[in-house]
Amino acid sequence: MTIPRNEFELIESIREKAKFHPGLQLGIGDDTAIFGFSRNKNSLITCDMLLEGVHFTLDQTSAYLIGRKSLAVNISDIAAMAGTPLIAVISIALPKTRNDTFVKELYRGIFELADEFEISIAGGDTNTWDGPTVINITLVGQEHDKGSVLRSGAQSGDWIMTTGSFGNSIAGRQFTFQPRVKEAKLLHEAIGLHSMIDVSDGLSADLFHILEESKVGAILEASAISIHEDVKSNNSSKSHLEQALGDGEDFELLFTLSAKNGKKLIESPPFETKLTKIGEVTESPEALIKMPDDKIVPLLRQGWEHLS
Ligand code: ADP
Ligand code: MG
Repeated sequence: MTIPRNEFELIESIREKAKFHPGLQLGIGDDTAIFGFSRNKNSLITCDMLLEGVHFTLDQTSAYLIGRKSLAVNISDIAAMAGTPLIAVISIALPKTRNDTFVKELYRGIFELADEFEISIAGGDTNTWDGPTVINITLVGQEHDKGSVLRSGAQSGDWIMTTGSFGNSIAGRQFTFQPRVKEAKLLHEAIGLHSMIDVSDGLSADLFHILEESKVGAILEASAISIHEDVKSNNSSKSHLEQALGDGEDFELLFTLSAKNGKKLIESPPFETKLTKIGEVTESPEALIKMPDDKIVPLLRQGWEHLS
């Protein structure tokens, strides 16, 4: 690897801040980290890469928020399995011209979330080059006692539900969102879920992932979809519903569960985060949406089909 000017100081400062949460035996400083979890639970592993110029530009956001998001997107993936995030390794490639404050701020964002979710930063790799900033985080977690919630478990007759609200996350929530770890675990524990995904591509596109993996269809109720305030304050040419279905990066949970358990959940929600029933799973493999005028039209990955 190429050695940046201050690589050793940088790694030392990261090492000082890194905490040891349960499971981690050896952290930063050796050739590898050592960890081990309970023998009778499976582990989860995921990674996500953020590229400057593709996922963010520095004139639109701060190093702090980029760091925060690079960990948050991974936490959200573990949440979508109803798991617990535990240990992360972080690889960064930095432009040679980038100053120390940038890296400090990046790690401030990473550590803030790591501390909040009790995630141990166990290692990483640091390089400089003539290209833009690249951050890749690999996150290891542990499965829920009841097992993981997969995309492939949706059943005909299930209710389709969401946490939170959707649309225009680009106004800021794409960086500041709160990964729904607590909610996912409580939902699976208290109620039992059939399928789940976190909404990154978009509410509609991510519903298609569940439907395809589960080999079922769905009918959504347009007027039930929870539209975020950020959409209402936006003067986009797209309708509010289109933004909620298509914008993505909301990082809310989209899940299905039996109708009986769905009713229970609405009657006694286990937390304050908003829960909404937005439709039902159907046996026929079509995806449909009932519009506010009661017309039923095909649902598309980016919204719905406008039938004349
Ligand atoms: P090696 O050459 O053996 O891979 P490095 O010099 O790359 O060792 O790393 C030294 C230690 O610092 C290792 O424990 C590594 O995991 C950790 N490390 C390096 N870069 C980072 C980083 N960006 N964030 C967290 N830990 C890091
Ligand atoms: Mg290395």
